[in-house]
Amino acid sequence: MSARLAALLRPGGSLAPVFAALLAAAIFAVDTLTQLDIAIAVLYVAAVMLAADRLTPRGILLAGAICIALTAVSFLAVHGDRYDLQAVMRAVVATVAIGIVTLLSLRHSRSSEMMHGQAALLDLTHDAILVRDAADTILYWNRGAEELYGWPAGEATGRKTTELLRTVFPVSREASNAQLQRDARWEGELRHTRRDGTHVVVASRWSQHRDPQGRPVATMETNNDITAGKQAEERLLKAQAELAQVTRMATLGQLMASIAHEVNQPLAAVVTNGEAGLRWLRRPVPDVAEASASVERMIANGRRAGDVVARLRALSRRDELRHEPVALNPLIEETLAIIERELQHHRARPQLDLAADLPLVRGDRVQLQQVLTNLVINAAQAMDGLAGSRPLVVRSRPGRDEAGEPVVEIAVVDRGAGVAAEAMPRLFEPFHSTKSQGMGLGLSICRSIVETHMGRIEALPNADRGMTFRVILPALKEPTP
Ligand code: ADP
Repeated sequence: MSARLAALLRPGGSLAPVFAALLAAAIFAVDTLTQLDIAIAVLYVAAVMLAADRLTPRGILLAGAICIALTAVSFLAVHGDRYDLQAVMRAVVATVAIGIVTLLSLRHSRSSEMMHGQAALLDLTHDAILVRDAADTILYWNRGAEELYGWPAGEATGRKTTELLRTVFPVSREASNAQLQRDARWEGELRHTRRDGTHVVVASRWSQHRDPQGRPVATMETNNDITAGKQAEERLLKAQAELAQVTRMATLGQLMASIAHEVNQPLAAVVTNGEAGLRWLRRPVPDVAEASASVERMIANGRRAGDVVARLRALSRRDELRHEPVALNPLIEETLAIIERELQHHRARPQLDLAADLPLVRGDRVQLQQVLTNLVINAAQAMDGLAGSRPLVVRSRPGRDEAGEPVVEIAVVDRGAGVAAEAMPRLFEPFHSTKSQGMGLGLSICRSIVETHMGRIEALPNADRGMTFRVILPALKEPTP
């Protein structure tokens, strides 16, 4: 196509301008060669309208001008020698009509050019944009939609979105449409099927365009492909589920280890006392009194192990823990009696500093005894390397918490090597141990027991030497039953 012609014609393949030219030629022939008393030239309007869609504004102006010129040529050819008023009027009417239609076509051409420009802008975005009418028929389909779904605009327009894309709605199509009718907008995640049959998840935003009477005219749908993000999210959820499973297994392992730890302590004491009892009996003159004291300690430790197992069984049955009023001073004395042998083994010298007017606490005797045993044995072990006397103080005091509520405070004070500053934050964590045979579970078990009793446990380095472990439990306010 020559450059001149290109300035007049819009790109496209339609033959409308050729037909318009033929029509104009026919009208010219009839107008010039016949003597009909009608305004044939008005029909040029049809030729201008026929060609307008394919012409540039310049082309439209030229077409209008040619039609007017042909009208004038025909008029001059037929009526050039005598001026018939009616013929003049017909020529004027035809010229005005052609002029008006040319101007209207120009306006239409400009606005459609603008719309095309805007539509071309929509092609620049990577989002898939489609416009559908109130009956869900696709009116517009941008390049992003072509790329995302695989159908060219020519194939997609005229079809229903839900059928073409086999839309799967988050709740239901009705629910989404109901919201669109109510708010003129909707957004959510949709699953669409592409031309090749694969699925795509899109974040979809709908905006409804309404006429001045409020009737829905069209809906613009902007769809963003979020398939990759969705798949990553699913993988993350799966990984989290796997992690939760591993954590459960680890917790189970931890529980098994803590059972072993709690049962092992009294069992070790049974063995130590059994060996001591045997030694008393195997003497040349058996010391029956000492031997029976050993056997009594064996029995007490055996019972302790039995109690721990019974508690665990209750826990596994999810029974309520037995929370009863407990007097802590007698419990401290009883505990020290049970572990007397171990304390002797570590050469620790227990000193009791118990308040006479100690309120009761509500709790589980066996569990509270486990806390005391752990703290006292830790204190004794901490003083293993200490030369000279190894005092181990167990203190009880009534007190008040920050809210002024009555509490009972138990402290276990040793003069051992203490805890290194960097180890302090991990002291109560499971499996933290500095001992070759240690499991590092004692303090973590103590903390969970104290916390189930609504209390707290803390470790404080002493000013001079060693550590103080403090357990603070809420005091029982009701009168003792
Ligand atoms: P384990 O006794 O099996 O090591 P614990 O949880 O009872 O487990 O104690 C963890 C660690 O805390 C011990 O290994 C020790 O390093 C430290 N610890 C506990 N009590 C004391 C104490 N009274 N003095 C110094 N260090 C202590």
